[in-house]
Amino acid sequence: MLSALHFLTHVGISWIVADLARLPPRGRWIVVLAGTLPDLDGIGILWSEHAYAAAHRAAAHGVFFAALIIAVAVLGTDRPWLVGALAAISFHLHLLLDVVGTGGMPIRYLWPLTDWQWSYGGHWVLASWPNAVVMTVTALGVVVIAWRRKRTPDRPVIDY
Ligand SMILES: [Zn+2]
Repeated sequence: MLSALHFLTHVGISWIVADLARLPPRGRWIVVLAGTLPDLDGIGILWSEHAYAAAHRAAAHGVFFAALIIAVAVLGTDRPWLVGALAAISFHLHLLLDVVGTGGMPIRYLWPLTDWQWSYGGHWVLASWPNAVVMTVTALGVVVIAWRRKRTPDRPVIDY
């Protein structure tokens, strides 16, 4: 349950970052995906614990995946530099929330070039009040933005 909330917090933060500029729907999607797709590298859990440990927080949490996401943002939108910058911010906020908000496996940002790992000794545990605050503030931020932009479930994106 808490892992699902943590993931939804990634989605919410990315959505808030995407709202920093009036982007067309494609640009918004790219920024949101930039902040959520990194956890795809945890899919190895479907095969084995070894596959999970080998790739999680490495393959899609590293600089090469960031470069891929930013390249898609730059090449796939009509506002390349803005969407690319917001995608980079969204991606790295995902990493920051992982490192500070959960601890767990370190981020192997330069994988597979080096085994350098990014972790933070003072990280929170998933079930902690700081995480509850971040999750709550993120949820409130999403609601406030949706309210201000007059978005509804049947009208989630507004053409600008
Ligand atoms: Zn992650």
